Amino acid sequence: MLPTKGYAALSAKETLQPFSFERRDVGPHDVLIKITHCGVCHSDIHQARNEWGGSIFPMVPGHEIVGTVTQVGSAVKKFRMGDRAGVGCFVDSCRTCEACLEGLEQYCEAGMLLTYNGRDKDGQPTQGGYSTQIVVDENYVLQIPNVQSAAGAAPLLCAGITTYSPLRHWGVGRYHKLAIVGLGGLGHMAVKIASAMGTEVTVLSTSEKKRKDAERLGATHFAVTSQAETFTQLQRRFDFILDTVSAPHNYNAYVNLLKTDGTMILVGAPDKPTPLEPFPLIINRRRIAGSVIGGIRETQEMLDFCAEHKIESDVEVIPIQEVNAAYERVVRGDVRFRFVIDLASLK
Ligand code: NAP
Ligand code: ZN
Ligand code: ZN
Repeated sequence: MLPTKGYAALSAKETLQPFSFERRDVGPHDVLIKITHCGVCHSDIHQARNEWGGSIFPMVPGHEIVGTVTQVGSAVKKFRMGDRAGVGCFVDSCRTCEACLEGLEQYCEAGMLLTYNGRDKDGQPTQGGYSTQIVVDENYVLQIPNVQSAAGAAPLLCAGITTYSPLRHWGVGRYHKLAIVGLGGLGHMAVKIASAMGTEVTVLSTSEKKRKDAERLGATHFAVTSQAETFTQLQRRFDFILDTVSAPHNYNAYVNLLKTDGTMILVGAPDKPTPLEPFPLIINRRRIAGSVIGGIRETQEMLDFCAEHKIESDVEVIPIQEVNAAYERVVRGDVRFRFVIDLASLK
């Protein structure tokens, strides 16, 4: 076993604190990654605070992991010592169901094995990237293009793929008008990726504060959702809405901003349900859909797309000792646009 240091939530009510644990030994198909950077996703906060229920403690969060390969198993083909490597939200799946065979491991019928807050085959809880190292089967490890900085690439492994995958799945592109609701970690990646795909992007944000940022990131339009006029002015404007909001809010108001046959895609995952009115959907044949991260093949495709289009996340790098303060700032919406932990700070 490999002694590993990290930061963990010991319960839903406690802040994260230093925590020692063990990783499994490197098996024939495994790589050992020395973690250099790990993004702070709002899902880390939902889970560390048990907002979705079923959390496993102690929990070392973190699923936007970038690092360097320091050991490879005897059968490993994709990686060599010294390579850069990334790990996203899951580290295994059944590999035999229809979804897995199609490269849609995130929809594995047996359930993907989450990078943390999951249980491995031996029943042991998985632990994430707020730690010094991780052992992962090479089939679930991504290659990080060399043009990307490690800190700027880390958030692509969740925020990047979570927004890229639905845009690709629904064929969002040129000639489409897309609204992105919420300009946080996911939202800012969505703006960059969708604009690179040639889509006309409107950011719908709760206040004026992020208008300049939205334009800099590539949005053509910006509107404030706390102003009622926004919802009358933008009626029937969009082919697609990508909702990245982390807290409960009224979906019905946004449905009215869709054209006939428009689709609202939910990726934000608030902890409480919101009532849905049928009529705004029925009378314009509109759809509400959802999407979760992306498969390994598509995640690699997204990393390569971002490298080609010179896309990285806008990050604020922090030492791990500041992670609890960072959580508070994320919840307040005070981050531009992703905190990334520098694991060199974890001695
Ligand atoms: P984040 O950085 O905190 O961004 C969320 C944004 O939502 C905020 O910046 C804010 O944008 C907006 N917002 C917050 N509270 C709001 C409210 N009450 N009403 C309206 N807007 C509000 O979080 P994130 O890391 O991007 O994650 C966003 C959500 O996606 C989380 O629920 C997370 O768990 C989920 N998620 C889902 C997947 C998936 O696979 N489906 C993957 C990763 C994350 P403005 O300041 O612009 O208003
Ligand atoms: Zn995430
Ligand atoms: Zn499967």
